[in-house]
Amino acid sequence: MAESSKSEGYSDSIKKKLRAIPKVDECLGWIEEHVEAPKAFLKAAVRELLAGEREAILSGAGRKIEDLTQKVLVPELKKRLAVKMAPNFRRVINATGVIIHTNMGRSLLPPEAMAGLATVGSRYSNLEFDLTTGKRGSRYSLVEDLLCELTGAEAGLVVNNNAAAVLLVLETLSKGKEVIVSRGQLVEIGGSFRIPEVMKKSGASLVEVGATNRTHLKDYEEAITEETSLLLKVHMSNYRIIGFTSEVPLEDLVSLGRKHKIPVMDDLGSGSLVDLSRYGLEKEPTVQDVIRAGVDVVTFSGDKLLGGPQAGLIVGRKKIIDRIKKNHLNRALRIDKFTLAALEAVFRLYFDEDKRETIPTLAMMAMPLDVIERRARRLVRRLKKTLSAHCEVDTAAVESRVGGGAMPEQGLPSRAVVLRPRTLKLSEFESKLRGADLPVIGRVENERMLLDMRTVGDDEIIPLSQSLLKVFEVE
Ligand SMILES: *Cc1c(COP(=O)(O)O)cnc(C)c1O
Repeated sequence: MAESSKSEGYSDSIKKKLRAIPKVDECLGWIEEHVEAPKAFLKAAVRELLAGEREAILSGAGRKIEDLTQKVLVPELKKRLAVKMAPNFRRVINATGVIIHTNMGRSLLPPEAMAGLATVGSRYSNLEFDLTTGKRGSRYSLVEDLLCELTGAEAGLVVNNNAAAVLLVLETLSKGKEVIVSRGQLVEIGGSFRIPEVMKKSGASLVEVGATNRTHLKDYEEAITEETSLLLKVHMSNYRIIGFTSEVPLEDLVSLGRKHKIPVMDDLGSGSLVDLSRYGLEKEPTVQDVIRAGVDVVTFSGDKLLGGPQAGLIVGRKKIIDRIKKNHLNRALRIDKFTLAALEAVFRLYFDEDKRETIPTLAMMAMPLDVIERRARRLVRRLKKTLSAHCEVDTAAVESRVGGGAMPEQGLPSRAVVLRPRTLKLSEFESKLRGADLPVIGRVENERMLLDMRTVGDDEIIPLSQSLLKVFEVE
């Protein structure tokens, strides 16, 4: 009934075609016996297929009646089913050269962290159990000492991510009060984290000072009132103002805060524990530098430059951290046991100068160009043997990015394998590569595909070339 009423107003030939679409049960009968899949997936695949056929017919395209058969439709059903049976959340090869790629999972964890995850995931643990007293313990105490040791802070706390960290600090210190921020630092960071919005959610009111490109100490000083609860500095992360600019040095902001007895907060965003100039990047204050400068609260991400799991780290003066710990909002933002396990393992690696650079994020930043070149040459050799008929293969000098909102202007010299498909359009090639069983994500630039080898592991060269062979249907 529904079908005939919906098809009213269409031509007889379309109506005839619609009637020729097989019924759901009939299609199920075709495949039920032959494929290994949950009934719900089978049904969904059939329904989607039939809806697609119907839509195509209504739009005037669609199959001929003699093609609406088991022989034609079963392979289509199997394709849809294969997609449903494959995990939605899976591995990809990141050949973009962006090390901390927010869309591809940011930082990769070192083996020590993975071992920690496996243990606490499959065994009971002392997550909130004090093994000394036999009483209830605090999950935060498991990493607080390490965090303080590494950053030089008096106290620390870890929450779900840095956005949560900023929200929690503001809600604790500034709800119903004023927070002074420079106009040039009212940033939006990918994925809809905006300082003015977070401020609103926390119940604090934003007091903007200075101009977009220049803010002076007197701008802050003149904005201080009875209601001022915090002087906030925000790392500009993913953008930069160039030209006639001026920011207030952190030390001056700290002195101003002291003079007026107002705490100073620095949202570092990426927040590195190591001096990045050793990787040829611009020198930026480390978390330790900022604590040493006397900032009262510092927030940064666990999975950006730190190279750990998703987390928001809050460090600073004990008096302030204690207040934050008592905030009930904290319970809603708390980290799970996996985060704790991974974070502790990563922290411990930082104490060992020799092992620090085995943390994948740091390892990829530190990677010497000749190692990347060797990788590129290895891939090129493989591809020239197998793919020359389908694709032009070459290498090129490129620049990798740190990503994660850190240092947007700076590149790390790198090497890419350059592909120019001969038998496919570039857009088709890009989409097939993305759709491969093991998807490969590269950069399309100047009519060619670039695969930056900095973010492709040595052990990914063979799987990557296999994905390429499949795209060109070479066996
Ligand atoms: C990335 C970033 C955030 C958000 O951190 P998440 O860990 O992604 O929640 C906040 N502030 C700044 C300055 C950032 O760079």
